[in-house]
Amino acid sequence: MLGPRRLFGTNGIRGVVNKELTPQMVIKIGSAIGTFFQHGNLIVGYDARTSGPMFARAVIAGLNATGCNVLLAGMSSTPALQFAVKNHKKDGAVIVTASHNPPQYNGIKVVWNDGIELSREQEIEIENIFFDEKIRYAEWNGLGTNRDLPGVIDDYIEAIKEHVDVAGITKKHYHVVVDTANSVGSLAAPRLLRELGCKVTTINANIDGTFPGRLPEPRPENLKDLALTAKAVGADLGVAFDGDADRSIFVDENGEIHWGDKTFALVEKHFLKDNPGEKIVTPVSSSTLVKDIADSYNGEIVWTKVGSITVSQTMKKINAKLGGEENGGIFYGPHQSVRDGAMATALILDIMARTGEKLSNLLGELPKYFIEKGKVECPNEFKEKALEKLTEQLSGLNMNTIDGVKIWFEDDSAILMRPSGTEPIYRLYAEAKTEEKALQLVKEYSSKLKRLIHSLQS
Ligand code: MG
Repeated sequence: MLGPRRLFGTNGIRGVVNKELTPQMVIKIGSAIGTFFQHGNLIVGYDARTSGPMFARAVIAGLNATGCNVLLAGMSSTPALQFAVKNHKKDGAVIVTASHNPPQYNGIKVVWNDGIELSREQEIEIENIFFDEKIRYAEWNGLGTNRDLPGVIDDYIEAIKEHVDVAGITKKHYHVVVDTANSVGSLAAPRLLRELGCKVTTINANIDGTFPGRLPEPRPENLKDLALTAKAVGADLGVAFDGDADRSIFVDENGEIHWGDKTFALVEKHFLKDNPGEKIVTPVSSSTLVKDIADSYNGEIVWTKVGSITVSQTMKKINAKLGGEENGGIFYGPHQSVRDGAMATALILDIMARTGEKLSNLLGELPKYFIEKGKVECPNEFKEKALEKLTEQLSGLNMNTIDGVKIWFEDDSAILMRPSGTEPIYRLYAEAKTEEKALQLVKEYSSKLKRLIHSLQS
């Protein structure tokens, strides 16, 4: 939990099971959500975590108590549940998931009737109901009812297929290795791929909430088995999902793992070739690569704060059709304006089939950047003041201050300095055309920031 009067973090409510998040709390959270939705019809689903059924029952009890009717979707991926909300024209969804967090965590994502997670303003309404004890319980004869909602995964798979050239992909008989992290990614992606004519090899595809195969965050250090397997079996593509299958990280035919910026830039390039002039929504933490592609293919970048909900909400507000994050989130608006691992996988295969190129070649054609990271200690109480001073000191440079301070330099290098939301530190992300330059930027700006923070404290 995030301190007084705060339930929601960047992506919903999260906590360690039976320590930060207990069934008693989840019933109350369910009732606060139910009060917010005012007798709505809500879909409830959960990921593969050991605590999933327990918390789903708790949240359902809380929702029913406030008169909300629940459609029980069972175990499912986040994007499939988000799609079901729109598809069945329901008022929203409550998803019991801790996404990429380790197995001891669980959490709750709340989705609005458009399939997108609630805005911060809506989250605050729920927090106020929760902390001010403003839950409105229903009378005994007004309690919500529950019924099963079958077919969520079937409908989702069919919907994805409508957005790619199924015949074109099928003709290629691709071999794809899928690493589903022992979670809900196993329910849709392998089936989708088989229906796209692919030979599918799965790893970590047995549902097991202890995550015995790997941790649910698709970071390179967790994807060594996928990389080795893709190469060993001679696959055309490897893909790994996070715990609720909204993020996807890809591996090429040589077993090389590619970070989300690159695969997003590839999707962006082919999207803009077909849809010139469109807006591309991405957080300020994304690589300059994303901007380079927009510049080269007549797109317009709209920078946002870091966080997938902000990307989705911005896409909705400005009617943008594509968004992406460096952590492997691809938001394909014609399907749904949320990140979606299975949709992203279909898009990558579609590009491979249309171009007839291997993934390594397609990614190799993109501009190259070297990325270096650093951190500087900064007590929480000085974070805001440091940001102000930093902006002042660096005025005149090509800067964006939507989330921390990002500076772009003439030689295509860039640096982002951003206060951590959870730790007393500033994080620095530099990128440049050479490794030396990226390192030098981290060094230079770390010492600038250190001096500045020091001067604030003295
Ligand atoms: Mg996730």
